[in-house]
Amino acid sequence: MRAHLLNGTTTEHYRTSVLQGVERVAAALAAADRPFTGVRPDALAPRIDAIDLDRPLGDTAAALEELESVYLRDAVYFHHPRYLAHLNCPVVIPAVAAEAVLSAVNSSLDTWDQSAGATLIERRLIGWTAERLGLGPAADGVFTSGGTQSNLQALLLAREEALGRGAAPDRLRVLTSECAHFSVQKAARLLGLGADAVVAVPADDAKRVSVPALEAELDRCRRSGLTAMAVVGTAGTTDFGSIDPLPELADLAARHRSWLHVDAAYGCGLLVSHRHRRLLNGIEHADSVTVDYHKSFFQPVSSSALLVRDRTALRHATHHADYLNPRRAAAERIPNQVDKSLQTTRRFDALKLWMTLRVMGADGIGTLFDDVLDLARRGWELLDADPRFEVAARPALSTLVFRWLPPEPVGGSPDPAAVDRANLYARKAISASGAAVVSGTTVAGRHYLKFTLLNPLTTPADIAEVLDLLAGHAADQDAGHDGQDGQDGQVGGSLVHAS
Ligand SMILES: *Cc1c(COP(=O)(O)O)cnc(C)c1O
Repeated sequence: MRAHLLNGTTTEHYRTSVLQGVERVAAALAAADRPFTGVRPDALAPRIDAIDLDRPLGDTAAALEELESVYLRDAVYFHHPRYLAHLNCPVVIPAVAAEAVLSAVNSSLDTWDQSAGATLIERRLIGWTAERLGLGPAADGVFTSGGTQSNLQALLLAREEALGRGAAPDRLRVLTSECAHFSVQKAARLLGLGADAVVAVPADDAKRVSVPALEAELDRCRRSGLTAMAVVGTAGTTDFGSIDPLPELADLAARHRSWLHVDAAYGCGLLVSHRHRRLLNGIEHADSVTVDYHKSFFQPVSSSALLVRDRTALRHATHHADYLNPRRAAAERIPNQVDKSLQTTRRFDALKLWMTLRVMGADGIGTLFDDVLDLARRGWELLDADPRFEVAARPALSTLVFRWLPPEPVGGSPDPAAVDRANLYARKAISASGAAVVSGTTVAGRHYLKFTLLNPLTTPADIAEVLDLLAGHAADQDAGHDGQDGQDGQVGGSLVHAS
């Protein structure tokens, strides 16, 4: 069994095993002519359940061969130009190479004595990101597992700051847009804030939070003796890519002594954009910012960070454990990142961004992100000119939210419930066929379809073809040709990829 431990005497086994894995993935990528096979959970589960985990195969090649049928063949491939569903990006090769390095060396970023240079590399990248954000000389931050964790930590810091100023714990409020990410709600719950602590402020037609409504809410809090501990703006809402008016938010937050957190999990790609950086103007006033490199920097999951304007705020995440990061170490200025993190053992995810910058440069990433923004604009033009579809809003970044509408019936408008069913069905049918993976959301209570474009290799022709397929499925269902009663919008009775 010792032959499986990675060390200086097993490098040949290491080399061949990793290369065998690489070869399998390369073959799978080359063979994937669609983003998904459409496999259903009930078809895949028996294959996985049948494997006896107490009878090892003893050999990487055999385990990889088995992996073919339980995973690789039916995986969802984000690199495919017709994967249009969620905020998942195709990944850049320098980052994938870094992933192989970081898992093999296996540094842990909690303390200097488990990481050495890895800690300094993470710190450089935090500094680099903070500088791009314009957060000023006292900024700091830490890599996290994702936007959800970054938002949680931001609100933890905001809560502690408010409590430190004497606010009552049961009077705390978080003001954010109705279009904000659900992780804000979840974070508030985890932090023990009350059920009504998050106030969802209405957004305008462009899906940006309404400044007058936010101001009115802040005034209402003040009059009712509530503490608006944080204003959370979103730079790139998950559904619409809309960017809240950041300078106005900064103004209001400052006047009400609220912490301003900007969730740029999606919009952070603008930091390296050549043509659209100005969309983030005002972000430099934030007290904290969430960035997800694994969304718009073409990085593999996980790669994310929380940045703060004032590094002393991170003390709210500090705990000195005698065995790990004693006070003594802080006094000796030993760089222990665990002092700033909610996690203890933590991956060296920063290496992926480092390798990406060292190979491609920030401009390279920015070019790719600008390409998807251009594609979204082209996609919007196609949709806007297409009488089969209605578009919810102009794309602010790279999402398109739209729905299929039946041809105008004689003497009346279509039944909204029937339109919902047709759109739900179209989404599931296209995923089940594997021809494309698209997502959906609701707008004003009605079901819409959604493209999240993050692949620079997707073309307007791909978009046009997927729209034709969607319109075909929707029309079939609407005409009762979906092979069932058409009431539940399901394909073959199973909820395929309905996340
Ligand atoms: C995706 C997203 C999140 C959550 O980030 P994860 O990395 O998935 O945890 C938070 N906010 C916004 C706006 C997002 O789009």
